[in-house]
Amino acid sequence: MFAGFVSALFLASRVLPGVVQERVLQQDGTRLQYKINGFLLFSLLIIVVSAGAWLKLFSLTVVHAHFWSLFIVANVFAFVFAFVLFLKGRRVGVRSVGASGSGAVPAIRDFFYGTEFDPAWLGVDLKMFSYRPSLMGLGLINASFASVQYEIYGHISSPMWIYQIFTFIYLANHFQFEQGILFTWDVIAERFGWMLVWGDYVLVPFFYSIPGWYLVHKIEPIPASSVACLIALYVVGFWLFRGANEQKHKFKLNPNVKIWGRPAETIGGRLLASGFWGIGRKLNYTGEVCLYWAWTLPCGAVSVIPHLVPLWLTTLLGHRAWRDEKRCREKYGVLWMAYCERVRFRMIPFIY
Ligand code: NDP
Repeated sequence: MFAGFVSALFLASRVLPGVVQERVLQQDGTRLQYKINGFLLFSLLIIVVSAGAWLKLFSLTVVHAHFWSLFIVANVFAFVFAFVLFLKGRRVGVRSVGASGSGAVPAIRDFFYGTEFDPAWLGVDLKMFSYRPSLMGLGLINASFASVQYEIYGHISSPMWIYQIFTFIYLANHFQFEQGILFTWDVIAERFGWMLVWGDYVLVPFFYSIPGWYLVHKIEPIPASSVACLIALYVVGFWLFRGANEQKHKFKLNPNVKIWGRPAETIGGRLLASGFWGIGRKLNYTGEVCLYWAWTLPCGAVSVIPHLVPLWLTTLLGHRAWRDEKRCREKYGVLWMAYCERVRFRMIPFIY
């Protein structure tokens, strides 16, 4: 199942049409090209899976039934894939930061952080591609939880509906705005090694889906007032997350773009300092944290485990905000200082 899924996505990524988007590497001006066809793949996956389930060719519950086997296979794949990437990078003589010389420690660093920034195979950028099995896999696992609940109880409960709708919009939006990844930290600043590979193939599909797992047997409806609060949290989160990411993306493509109807304000023409980016330096992170809480809170107090997902994300993004700013300080120098003076808070105005 795992091999078939990843191979089919890889093949489809390669052969299906898509808009070509370029990214210019700041180090040497090399132009990398990416075929943006994730939304087409996502749509086709939904059609194939829905048709297969409708025609009773297979049941999505199979994913739930084999969750732990799939988890083991995904881990094996991630370790082997990372090792192949490590060998590939070593062969062309690329090393991770701080991993010069020979010996076990530099080798472990190379394996863990990766060696090459943008490894490709058969013309497909592997880092960009890996978001697809990762997030489409998450979508399939989520859908299988709903199928299991339907099979056992004969209906889908309101907490499960909320979880499914919220996560589906998030995933669909990711693929609809797939080109936005090209200006994210992982694509521009991280090498492709075990850390990202394991995150894509194991952490995201198997850990991020845990709230859905807990909702399978939660069939009591949620009060309307709670539903309204969850929707409000989700809408605000989505507005911040999508809005901030989109503003930055448009600004990177055209620094003269209009933000909220007015010409973009900048620091030195390089850093966006209006719109969401004029209120907080990482409001995109804040928005994403709100989204994860909105779809995990329906789990209620059944266990602390599903709530580990938004807690983890809050910690990850809090730490990442600090790490990314360190990088930006080094890259932009006084411009970054001026930006921080103008926009004083990262994720929560007046607090952090
Ligand atoms: P950002 O999208 O904020 O990208 C950071 C980069 O943007 C910086 O390194 C810098 O790069 C540029 N930048 C920062 N501030 C400005 C500014 N004011 N004007 C112009 N450029 C700026 O962060 P990430 O890449 O970390 O995250 C992208 C999205 O992915 C976020 O929405 C985040 O929430 C999400 N995410 C989700 C995770 C998950 O597990 N669910 C994990 C990690 C991220 P440059 O050198 O190009 O200028």
